[in-house]
Amino acid sequence: MAAPFELPPLPFSSDALAPVISAQTLGFHHGKHHKAYIDKLNELVKGKPYAEMSLLDIIMATTDDNANKPIYNNAGQAWNHDFYWHSLTPKQQDPSSRMKGLLEKSFGSMDEFRKQFSEAAVTQFGSGWAWLVSNGHEQLEIMKTGNADTPWSQGRRPLLTLDVWEHAYYLDYQNRRPDYAKAVIEKLLNWEFAEKNLAG
Ligand code: MN
Repeated sequence: MAAPFELPPLPFSSDALAPVISAQTLGFHHGKHHKAYIDKLNELVKGKPYAEMSLLDIIMATTDDNANKPIYNNAGQAWNHDFYWHSLTPKQQDPSSRMKGLLEKSFGSMDEFRKQFSEAAVTQFGSGWAWLVSNGHEQLEIMKTGNADTPWSQGRRPLLTLDVWEHAYYLDYQNRRPDYAKAVIEKLLNWEFAEKNLAG
């Protein structure tokens, strides 16, 4: 039987996000890191019921399950990376009027949204993710998660994410995580994707 999970292609060419994220970073990040999570997951689920499940179902089934922590971690990272690639776009976009209204209602202003998203990215201690999420009541929130964790386990619906593991920025920004976060938040966020996620 073929391995159940495959590395999904990037939704843009590997040089499309330069100079904010270089082709070299994308090559390693997608071709090595993301692929390694998929390969490891395939190895771990072999012959188990997880091999028949979606990534999200695996994540929900193994949250807080210490015996299956490696499966949880690799499924989480596989899901998070695909979501991260789609959170980015080379076509600089403004949020739609509906999304802009929700952001202003939730954060006060677009500048305040950018500030809070960036702060979450910068203050996540160690490896992890910053997120724009919906709490299901037309209210948007910023949150951060460590390692492979997703907002789903905390009852939040993710709209956009920013990978703040060092491998996401070190080749381009070295230790300057704030510069990476600022550049991505200003130039690469995919608001069409965020709005699609809002609808579920
Ligand atoms: Mn990553």
